[in-house]
Amino acid sequence: MKYLLDFDGVLFDIELFKARMEELGFKNAKRSAALFDQMKEKDPVLDVSSFLFPDAKSFLEEHRDDCLVISSFVSSNPQPEEYETDARAYQERKITLSGVPTLLSDGSILVVGSSKEEALKKVYEKCGKDGEDCIFIDDREVHIDEAARVGIKAVCMDRIGTSHDPHVRVVRSFYELADLLQNGV
Ligand SMILES: [Mg+2]
Repeated sequence: MKYLLDFDGVLFDIELFKARMEELGFKNAKRSAALFDQMKEKDPVLDVSSFLFPDAKSFLEEHRDDCLVISSFVSSNPQPEEYETDARAYQERKITLSGVPTLLSDGSILVVGSSKEEALKKVYEKCGKDGEDCIFIDDREVHIDEAARVGIKAVCMDRIGTSHDPHVRVVRSFYELADLLQNGV
């Protein structure tokens, strides 16, 4: 089984991280790679990897070779197009500092734009060729819908319990995901 995982909200506690940003005075700061250096100046012991959800970390450790991260650098609130390069660099640096790349095999992280559909299609075709099943886990329903269009089984990781769409399979944690998989999705 290949696990296609979103980053923010699935592996990484982005809400807690945003709260920390706000505490440090960077609430509305422009997202860029340099933002982490600015935060570090204010808080020298800031450890981005501490914002990984503990259950996510264990899951990655357990399924290291079967995980692929597909992360969008576009935030849910639309940003001007000229921010794109910085937004991508911000997302890539955040992922690097989270330590997730060291938990996975090389080439297991894809940073994409607002849509994950193309990336999902490619991965799905490759899984098909390899005769391997795959499942996609994301916290945003727009991406769950994209996976459904591609034909990939998808589960919404709704850690704070806001999803009310009865057509979407929802779990609150990787522990619940493991249960769901055991019972067959
Ligand atoms: Mg997300």
